[in-house]
Amino acid sequence: LWADRLDGAGPAAVRRLLGDHGLSVTALNRGGFFAADESPGLAASVTATCRMIDLAAELGAPTLVIVPGGMAAEDRDLITARARVAAGLAAVAPHARACGVALGIEPFHPNLTAQRGVVNRLASAIDLCHDVGLGAGVILDVYHLWWDQDIAADIARAGDLILGYHLCDYPRAPRDPLFDRARIGAGCADAVGLTRHVLAAGYAGPVEVEIFSKFDLWSRAPDAVATLCRDDFARHIREVVQP
Ligand code: ZN
Repeated sequence: LWADRLDGAGPAAVRRLLGDHGLSVTALNRGGFFAADESPGLAASVTATCRMIDLAAELGAPTLVIVPGGMAAEDRDLITARARVAAGLAAVAPHARACGVALGIEPFHPNLTAQRGVVNRLASAIDLCHDVGLGAGVILDVYHLWWDQDIAADIARAGDLILGYHLCDYPRAPRDPLFDRARIGAGCADAVGLTRHVLAAGYAGPVEVEIFSKFDLWSRAPDAVATLCRDDFARHIREVVQP
């Protein structure tokens, strides 16, 4: 669930509405954005993330997705930007633990380093989890991770830290770094192979189809998109998930 889509509805009402339809919030999107913020800006990101942790708890969402954040304009110090992510996580972790909400660190594709996420490799996200301690985990996304030659070993190493899995595909030549994802099976990522690794690592949580698609799906009717995604999933992934 994206927090900005609540459209003024209170969390209790949303939780009730979802429950009436047999649904629940698997994860709330999103907190973080620590990397770009020098102090005192970092404190503002920490405060905003703590508010999202409260909202996740009120919605009954087990996980808050943490977007690391990109680099501020003129900033060329990637190492310090990454250190700010670690500092931000350390600052919000006690509140997350107190609320029973896990922090799901999502590594981002390198082409989004400056724009969205200075944490790119799953290995780096796992290291951050170990620094933060209890209550931190990782969110795996095919779009962000397919290129990493060590991804199989890193998924195995992630094991119990895996809090979520986002399915989609990576087009051979994205026309937009953020909003041109391919449908499952239509790109160059091995979504089937990655899914096998995620399951082999012991992950048994929800598998979410996440396709930002301003050139294609976003202009189609929601029902048609749901049908396409269901059919893609059935054709490419279901056999892996339910052999
Ligand atoms: Zn994702």
